Amino acid sequence: MNNSEIKNSLKLAAQLMELHGENPFKTRSYVSAADVVGGLDAELSTLSTDEILAIDGIGKGMATNISGLLERGSFDNLDKYMEMTPAGVVEMLGISGFGPKKVAVLWQEGGAETLEQLMELCLQGKVASLKGFAEKSQETLKAAVAFLISNQYKEKYGNIDQAIANLVSAIEGLKEVQSCSESGQMRRRMEVIDLVEIVVAAEDFDALRTSLNALQVLSEEEKKSGPTTWYGRHVGIKAPLKLHLTSLDKFVQRLVETTGSVRHINMPIADQVTIKSSLIRPFESEEELYQSLGMKYIVPELREGLKEIEWAKNDQIPALIEMSDLKGILHNHSTYSDGKHTLRQMAEHCRQLGYEYLGISDHSQTAVYAGGLQDADVARQQEEIKQLNEELAPFKIFSGIESDILADGSLDYSEEILSSFDFIVASVHSGLNMDVKKATDRLLKAIYNPHTTILGHMTGRLLVQREGYPVDHKAIIEACAETRVVIEINASPYRLDMDWRWIDYALEKGVKLSINPDAHRMDGYQDMYYGLQVARKGGLTAKDNLNSMSLPEITAFFEQKKKKK
Ligand SMILES: [Zn+2]
Ligand SMILES: [Zn+2]
Repeated sequence: MNNSEIKNSLKLAAQLMELHGENPFKTRSYVSAADVVGGLDAELSTLSTDEILAIDGIGKGMATNISGLLERGSFDNLDKYMEMTPAGVVEMLGISGFGPKKVAVLWQEGGAETLEQLMELCLQGKVASLKGFAEKSQETLKAAVAFLISNQYKEKYGNIDQAIANLVSAIEGLKEVQSCSESGQMRRRMEVIDLVEIVVAAEDFDALRTSLNALQVLSEEEKKSGPTTWYGRHVGIKAPLKLHLTSLDKFVQRLVETTGSVRHINMPIADQVTIKSSLIRPFESEEELYQSLGMKYIVPELREGLKEIEWAKNDQIPALIEMSDLKGILHNHSTYSDGKHTLRQMAEHCRQLGYEYLGISDHSQTAVYAGGLQDADVARQQEEIKQLNEELAPFKIFSGIESDILADGSLDYSEEILSSFDFIVASVHSGLNMDVKKATDRLLKAIYNPHTTILGHMTGRLLVQREGYPVDHKAIIEACAETRVVIEINASPYRLDMDWRWIDYALEKGVKLSINPDAHRMDGYQDMYYGLQVARKGGLTAKDNLNSMSLPEITAFFEQKKKKK
């Protein structure tokens, strides 16, 4: 288990204890231990028991719990409460906006033990009459439960890519296996995965199946498996897993067939010809297949059945952006607000990784919960940036802010303070419950504010967890085109917002995008990888990406934007 999994387990224990009406002091000790774990630099799995005991805020009992998590993925107290709680009720604890006490009412008074039963209760209007609920909260709950039900077998790509890469290597290592590759949604780098697919070539499928079933992380659901498929689960992953078993000579055919979306493989290429209809003979490579159809090779992440076939036929596939095209890192937090590392640490690490510049944008004053910067903090930070810039030159830190977009669409400081920044990321963090008109108007007002440089995480969505507020994407993109406001592709694997499906429209309108990690700690920079994957899906090239600009280019860009005010 890594620290974030340990943190989540401790939090879950706290929620379960509250659900069962445990002593609040006991409950709180788990919450604070979870916070301590979340703030650690070192992975707990690399520490000795004595070292864990020496951590401030971790007592003896908690250290034992942590050892349990590291050794067997659980601990006695957690086991005890899990046993007392129906699985569906545990899932209810994940409904945002409804704490354990509310869940206890839904379960004990309402009688709901599964999400489906809870939905039924909402539909019958019975939740509104329960203690602490009303018509309005019943509606909110209904929407949240519907979202959870539709997402209960889905995973964020960034949550499972490591585990699946490990699985692919484990399968490759089996003696029966001749070739193996991920395919399907994983290979297309979809932001949310509801089916993990892998293609495996072997001669003897029976022997292969036996070896697969001997892998500890896998469990087969035999009823859903077939003669050439293995269907089942990977421990700890909610999305089901489907392995396509094939002979080596048909490996490329199976790979192409299962990688592309249904639309992609069925898209007409010529009269009566599709990719699917062409998979009737063996191919040496995927390149050979696409070439045989008179097309350029199409990378997996583009195989969605959108414009890629047209592009490939006319040799117009965009030169998709690469990791090496990223020259700087924008939208990052430091200990000035809710970041884990200091401005200096964030800057030095960024420079060490070879980037030319860092855009720091801590939270603004209204975001009190995130330690938003007051006027005096802004001045203090800008002074430190000045000093660091002298020391670290030619590396440069740009002074920015992630300004809350207030309820009326205005930004979060006086004109004078706003003018003091090199760039401003404008984002919504509160009052997320909006209809499309209200949300769009709020964003439009921020976009037309001359101080806004970048529109941050456009819809506020949290993948698989919370739907974003609805926005009129076209209106927003067109306003950004008019004002030259850059649209962020928030690269956090939890967000990946703006959705990549709108990148093409933004490019068509001449809007620039920016792959921003929204890093709250040094290793948060790594999230740019996930932003890059979806940016490529949307067809983004380096020339349309803000943080692909060199330092002189982006300096000029920020200055010009400021002059236009
Ligand atoms: Zn934000
Ligand atoms: Zn942020």
